[in-house]
Amino acid sequence: MKYDLIVIGGGPAGMMAAGRAGQNGANVLLLEKNDKLGLKLLITGKGRCNITNAESEQRNIVDQFGPRGKFLFSAISRFGPGEVVDFFNQRGLVTKVERGNRIFPISDESNSVLDVLVDYLKQNKVHIKTRAEVKSIFCVDNKIQKVILKSSEELTAKNYAICTGGKSYPLTGSSGDGYVWLAKLGHTIVLPRPALVPVIAEESWIKDLEGLSLKNVAITVIQNNRKVDSRFGEALFTDNGLSGPIVLDLSKKVGQLLDSSPVELAIDFKPALDYPTLDKRIQNDFSQFNSKMFKNSLDLVLPQKLIPIIVRLSGINPEKKVNSITKEERKRLLHLLKDLRLKIKKLVGFNKAIVTTGGVELKEVDPKTMRSKIVTNLFLAGEVLDLDGPTGGFNLQSCWSTGFAIGENFSR
Ligand code: FAD
Repeated sequence: MKYDLIVIGGGPAGMMAAGRAGQNGANVLLLEKNDKLGLKLLITGKGRCNITNAESEQRNIVDQFGPRGKFLFSAISRFGPGEVVDFFNQRGLVTKVERGNRIFPISDESNSVLDVLVDYLKQNKVHIKTRAEVKSIFCVDNKIQKVILKSSEELTAKNYAICTGGKSYPLTGSSGDGYVWLAKLGHTIVLPRPALVPVIAEESWIKDLEGLSLKNVAITVIQNNRKVDSRFGEALFTDNGLSGPIVLDLSKKVGQLLDSSPVELAIDFKPALDYPTLDKRIQNDFSQFNSKMFKNSLDLVLPQKLIPIIVRLSGINPEKKVNSITKEERKRLLHLLKDLRLKIKKLVGFNKAIVTTGGVELKEVDPKTMRSKIVTNLFLAGEVLDLDGPTGGFNLQSCWSTGFAIGENFSR
């Protein structure tokens, strides 16, 4: 048998698994269906690639993944953010830390991250076969015998790793192939759903706000008049809903809640000011703009694009002089600034989802080795697993750590 390991999927997890196994002396073949490795990696971090997060406490990292995060403890303790940064720095990629502990290459080019990984593969004599789409996996008595490519070519190895990612941004190659094979091989697949994804709202006036980005706002998820979750930070209006970091982070929860009953998002444009303080602030503004019309009195409190919408929703006559606005009308305005509600129709879907939540049931994978507990010569790493974190470099960290853990099985 020629190969010690065949890795299916040349994304971050697959490249790290193959490279590390090769470094440890294994004869490795990496199969990728695209004509290039790491297509998704290239679009990460808006083309800048947020490779990991500078959070130094392991516990704080695994907590980002929710209750299932503890699966990552072992892998992160061996190859955590510090080791990832060293890995890239030692190979000539200088990194920098940005807001929120996000680590990027100083080049601001995801290409430079991919270059390091491809060099790593080559240095460790990993055989790379692109345009090699695996069609099926042949397994007897819980042991994989061979993989069959679309071209009908059959390839064999002692061990196999499935690193085919999730279902999000399928044009990059992550079309969920791994889930199909793994279900056939006997693994449980937790229903894959889009996460870190924009939401679509019912309100038609949102279209007028397209492109408006909001800083320092708070957004709360509300179901049955109950506050379920909330975030503070940046958001962005799209042509039909909301996106931006805090909305993406809330989207998984929104998706889950939508299964049961309607969900609203409440935007607080002035989270730093409580109702009485904001009321005072508005009264001050009104006294400054005493003789102005209402529609021209909000410049200090709201971005220009938002003013006509808030004016319309307030039901206050836009031409009314601010000095004749009643207390009742002011309270309505206040309410819109602190608690503007959007009815959420649905999530945008896999095409625009940064990650997939769901995937291979973690109980069926050994967290130390990433070996399948069902198929004896199979390993799993990356987004194909039922693990997903928020934005901030956590998802790639999970790929590096789990991929590295696979490679460690081949140390001599
Ligand atoms: P993938 O990257 O999906 O790679 C899987 C590979 O397997 C693909 O190349 C695919 O072509 C190949 N494959 C699939 N099926 C087959 C088959 N049948 N035969 C052969 N090959 C196959 N995370 C961060 O931490 N930081 C960020 O800045 C960040 N930004 C992102 C921005 C966007 C727009 C998106 C979509 C994601 C972002 N992510 C980010 C998430 C991160 O990119 C993913 O979590 C990560 O790429 C998953 O890696 P993976 O190796 O598991 O799978």
